[in-house]
Amino acid sequence: MRLIILGPPGSGKGTQASILARKYGLLYLATGDIFREEIKQKTDLGRQVESYMARGELVPDELVVEVVRRKLESSSNSSIGFIFDGFPRTERQAKELDKLLSKINLKLSAVLLIDVPDDEVVKRLSGRRICARCGAVYHVEYNPPKIEGTCDICGGELIQREDDKPEVIRRRLQVYHEQTDPVISYYEKNNLLYRVDGLGEVEEVHRKIETLLKQFCNE
Ligand code: ADP
Ligand code: AMP
Repeated sequence: MRLIILGPPGSGKGTQASILARKYGLLYLATGDIFREEIKQKTDLGRQVESYMARGELVPDELVVEVVRRKLESSSNSSIGFIFDGFPRTERQAKELDKLLSKINLKLSAVLLIDVPDDEVVKRLSGRRICARCGAVYHVEYNPPKIEGTCDICGGELIQREDDKPEVIRRRLQVYHEQTDPVISYYEKNNLLYRVDGLGEVEEVHRKIETLLKQFCNE
C-alpha cells in the first residue's frame, strides 16, 4: 500500500498515519518531523528550514524534494509500502514525487484527504502537546497524558510546538488553502483522491479510513 495522507495542519494526519504505518508495516515519512529533528540536531538543513517553519511558511520545494528522494532511496521497505504525511504540499512537489516514483517503478495506491473544518483545526492545534524526547503527540483535552506535562511512553517533557501559537496557526491555515488546495485538485484529476470525514474520535476516523482502504485499495 502506497499512501499519501493530506489535510490541513492539525487535522489528525500524524495520528492516523502512525496507526496505519504500525498496522501495515509501512515506511512512515513525515517531512515536518524530519525537519524538526534536523533543527534539534543543529544541522545545515535544520538551519536552512528553521525560519520558514517558525513563520508558518512552506520550506522551498527543492529542499523538501531532496529530503524525500534520499529517504525513499535509503529505505528498504519503501517498495512494500509507505505513507507520506505532510508531503506533498505544493503541486510542484506532487509532480516531482510522480517523477521519483516512476523512476523506481512504483505507483501511488491512494491519497486520503482528512476533512476537518478550520475552527476545529484551531482547537486541535492550540491544545496539541508533543514529547520533546520521542515526539509522541497529545492533546490537553482530547488525548491528555496520564500525568500532566509528562509523556506516557518515555517520561519526556511535553511541550507546545512554536508554530502551534495562535498567530502562526492562522498563517499555516492560510498557506494550506493557498498552496495545498491545488494538490487536492491534482490528485482528484488523477482519480486517486478519497475524502474522509475527520470529525469524531481517533478510533472512529481510523475505522472510516479502513473502510475506504478495503473498498478502493487492493494492494
Ligand atoms: P496533523 O499531523 O494533521 O498536524 P495531529 O495528528 O498532530 O495532526 O493532530 C493534531 C492534534 O489533534 C493533536 O493534539 C492530536 O492529539 C489531536 N487529534 C488528532 N486526531 C483527533 C481526533 N480525531 N479528535 C480529536 N483530537 C484529535
Ligand atoms: P507539519 O509537521 O507537517 O505540520 O509541518 C511543519 C512545518 O514544516 C510546515 O509548516 C512547513 O514549514 C514545514 N514543512 C513540512 N512539510 C513540508 C512540505 N512538504 N513542504 C514545505 N514545507 C514543509
